Amino acid sequence: MPKIVSNELPGPKSRQVIADALQVQTPTRPSVRGTLVIEEGFGSGIKDPDDNIYIDLSAGVAVSSVGRNHPKVVEAVREQATKLMHSAGLVSSTTVKLAKKLSEIMPEGLRDECFTVFGMSGSAAVETAIKFAKAITGKHQIVAFEGAYHGVFHGSLALTTRENFRVPYMPLMPGAIHMPYAYCYRCFAGFDSKSCAQACGKYLDFKLNTPNTGADDVAAVIVESMQADGGYIDPPIEFMKALREACDKRGIILIIDEVQAGAGRTGKMWAVEHYGIKPDMLVWAKAVGGDMPLSGVTVHKRFYEKLPQSSQVITSAENAVVNAVGLANLEILSDPKDDLIGRAAKLGGELKQRLLDFQKTCRLVGEVRGRGLFIGVELVSDKDKRTPLDAKYMGQIAKTCEQRGVRVMACGRYGNTFRLMPPLVITEAHLRKGIDIFLEAIKEVEAATA
Ligand code: PLP
Repeated sequence: MPKIVSNELPGPKSRQVIADALQVQTPTRPSVRGTLVIEEGFGSGIKDPDDNIYIDLSAGVAVSSVGRNHPKVVEAVREQATKLMHSAGLVSSTTVKLAKKLSEIMPEGLRDECFTVFGMSGSAAVETAIKFAKAITGKHQIVAFEGAYHGVFHGSLALTTRENFRVPYMPLMPGAIHMPYAYCYRCFAGFDSKSCAQACGKYLDFKLNTPNTGADDVAAVIVESMQADGGYIDPPIEFMKALREACDKRGIILIIDEVQAGAGRTGKMWAVEHYGIKPDMLVWAKAVGGDMPLSGVTVHKRFYEKLPQSSQVITSAENAVVNAVGLANLEILSDPKDDLIGRAAKLGGELKQRLLDFQKTCRLVGEVRGRGLFIGVELVSDKDKRTPLDAKYMGQIAKTCEQRGVRVMACGRYGNTFRLMPPLVITEAHLRKGIDIFLEAIKEVEAATA
């Protein structure tokens, strides 16, 4: 349970770390944001330098699914580092084992019929995926979606729709086109979810059918199978099916970005498995490496021969220790004994029900959505008008949680969605207690704004 030893947060030791960080870190470094400094981690808990303990309902942005120092991961690091720290310029057997494991656990359509190119961040893997799509098809445009977050490099940022991230770095990769994502709570066409007939899926088809728009030059559609930074949105099955069909009709490559939703979090190994569609490429990162610099794009092998033979290697992208961690994480996640993925489905289902019940009693909860331990709680100040809750109150809820020993993070186009994405190893007691505190903080803002 969280143990608050200081009412004043951050405590003196944390304040010193923050002061030092401000001297030596670049202004864009997110760890300088906010007040929470981390010194130790365990399971779903984190400890700051002043010995305050917090329940982490954000898993370090969906990264620490198996906790921050799982004994099997620690042992994998020790064993690999003792044998071989790095393999740059050569192939290590650990890297091959990881690629093999990935091939075995990929969703249908890629499973046992794919190859993987490794990277060191989700952004890097997205860059590789879009380069490959262009090389394979000889086309140049990439379709992405409103609200998407695909990374920070020139290609991945061009596919991202956060203007404050993009504008300082213009011009970005040319040829990025954005289409509406099935964010049904805020439908672009104003439909309610019963009457829409999937206008957003149809719009992609309409756009691709329109002559003289460049639509015949589309190499790939890249989509988050559940939109993460855009608001923790699980789109309807029909939307994802419409994308697959639109791509199939025209030989367009469908790239599924599972950087945040993948690796078991949604109650299946890959979120795309909820939709029954087959990706051509799947981009993964975050929880596979557990914050080690590990990512990759896993590509169907029918494209292998179409790729240029020139070298595209990132020097340290196949680091043996990093790859050993990836392998250990995937083994833990796919171990039927602990069944962490089944557990994510079960705990997530119970949690969602609890939040839906809470929604009935709380004026601020506009929508509860998501699957498994990938849950978005969108807060509004007016349920009928769906007015996003003001940033001031979102900040107040996060701060109250932190002061009571719980870490939560917000996201979304309006910044008004809390994303609940605890480690998959969270204990039921921690989850219950963390959510008690989270809901209490929302209730307090509700009372203060009555
Ligand atoms: N794609 C998605 C869906 C993401 O959520 C992120 C990061 O949050 C990225 C890509 C970029 O990953 P990274 O931050 O590892 O570069």
